[in-house]
Amino acid sequence: STGTETFEFQAEARQLLQLMVHSIYSNKDIFLRELISNASDALDKVRLAAFADKDLAVDTSDLHIDLEIDSEARTLTVRDNGVGMSRDEVIILIGTIAKSGTAELMQKIRESKDAAGSQELIGQFGVGFYSSFMVADKVTLLTRRAGEDTATRWESDGGATYVIETVDDAPQGTAVTLHLRPEDKDDQLFDYTAGWKVREIVKRYSDFIAWPIRMAVERTDNDGNTTSEIQTLNSMKALWARSKDDVKEDEYKEFYRHLSHDWSDPLEIIHMRAEGTFEYESLLFIPSRAPFDLFTRSAKRGVQLYVKRVFIMDDCQELMPEYLRFVKGVVDAQDLSLNISREILQQDRHIQLMRRRLVKKVLSTVKGIMASDAERYQTFWSEFGRAVKEGLLDDHDNQKTILDISSFASTRDQDELTTLAQYVERMKDGQTEIYYSTGESRSTIENSPHLEAFRAKGYEVLLLTDPVDEMWVQSVQDYDGKRFQSIAKGQVDLDTEEEKANAGPEREQQEKDFAELLSWMTDQLGENVKEVRLSSRLTTSPACIVGDAQDMTPTLEKMYRAMGQ
Ligand code: ADP
Ligand code: MG
Repeated sequence: STGTETFEFQAEARQLLQLMVHSIYSNKDIFLRELISNASDALDKVRLAAFADKDLAVDTSDLHIDLEIDSEARTLTVRDNGVGMSRDEVIILIGTIAKSGTAELMQKIRESKDAAGSQELIGQFGVGFYSSFMVADKVTLLTRRAGEDTATRWESDGGATYVIETVDDAPQGTAVTLHLRPEDKDDQLFDYTAGWKVREIVKRYSDFIAWPIRMAVERTDNDGNTTSEIQTLNSMKALWARSKDDVKEDEYKEFYRHLSHDWSDPLEIIHMRAEGTFEYESLLFIPSRAPFDLFTRSAKRGVQLYVKRVFIMDDCQELMPEYLRFVKGVVDAQDLSLNISREILQQDRHIQLMRRRLVKKVLSTVKGIMASDAERYQTFWSEFGRAVKEGLLDDHDNQKTILDISSFASTRDQDELTTLAQYVERMKDGQTEIYYSTGESRSTIENSPHLEAFRAKGYEVLLLTDPVDEMWVQSVQDYDGKRFQSIAKGQVDLDTEEEKANAGPEREQQEKDFAELLSWMTDQLGENVKEVRLSSRLTTSPACIVGDAQDMTPTLEKMYRAMGQ
């Protein structure tokens, strides 16, 4: 082996570690769930790697997780014979936190006054490997990447630095050894050297893990002889394959945590089984809040594909459209080949059918929430509405449903959003179109002169302030036969027939009076405008700029310009 090298943790990693060392969680038991979850991922990965590369020097004959207790040394080791990590991977994966939004999150946690608040925040992030430091004052990790000869030993006390050493030989996979805190020694609650305690935690948090979790268990028979035997602690029953009636709420929640790394409970659980020619089981979750990276490029889709209980891939894009990327879960298909590649997936007709069915199910579930529980729907919409509206552009088949489950700010109320159905119901007699205005914020729109006539005449206007709104209003024709009409575009006719009849002579006179001014303005403004015309839509502002019906809105123009087009 070579000498040891000392490295510093990345700043955000150090902060997260500090939170663990000072144990902001009241429930320390979860460290084991995190380590088992990592081990399980590593086993999934090595199985896949061996499948993809027949020449890879790996042994996949007995993939499993071992838990080893050493009461004398007061250590607990979680060992897997999974994919392992290379030296560089250890430095990147364990020494840094690559997730986007980490710095912002850390800032928020520092600012949050109470412990419960910090727990909430950090839970959105997933505590992961560092949770070991809640119970250990030193952690050692020994790992060998599948296919590589040398291994890496990593060690840290959770302070500012860690040491790394290259070791000649170690079993395939990863062993994480926790040197349990001496101060917890006599505390029953934190006695992680007690077999019954470890078994209980595994049962509670990790029962559904698909790989065996084994531990040596001491047995004393009636004659007082003690023997040790290896036991498998978890049932390994895939949750999604069980019937709904058999699964407890808490089991769903734990499974969701395992999948999503989200501390809070899901907003909705969708468990369904499709039978017939193409069978599959699916267990989907709608989270109760958006992940930090929902709008970054790196955002992944949350649905995993399994084939006959075998994990095939994370982030299965073919099963969930981008606008529903926040949906987490598992889809397990019976009749696909384990060999299935992304290319085949894209063309597979069954996959397309599955996707269509899953999307419809998610949307109809949201519709159900909307009908039954206004508060829960509002949570959903404020967290995910912006993403869902992207579907108005991409998913023509479900446009109507997406419009049905959407809600928007409007001039009717300062805070309360309105659905389109509610808007339509309130439309004035003779109003045939849904009026909207796009803009950067509610206040910019409210201060724009375009709104004056609508306000004066008591028409409700939708206030669309998300960037995606600019896009979908261009492509969605109507809702319930009512066209979407921008108040900033083309000629909007707000006058009733009676008003028009009365306005006739008056209008003619005005046109005459202002003819000279209008032609002077047309000359002055030259190429910058298409036309200068007399408006009846303004009440207090002297003038405003109006787009042609086919023109881009100013915000959209800005977006295109920003993209360099
Ligand atoms: P997360 O699991 O959310 O990615 P963790 O902090 O739990 O975050 O782990 C960080 C990364 O370290 C994992 O994504 C994985 O790449 C790597 N890792 C952790 N434990 C193991 C392990 N037992 N085997 C292989 N890689 C591991
Ligand atoms: Mg993890």
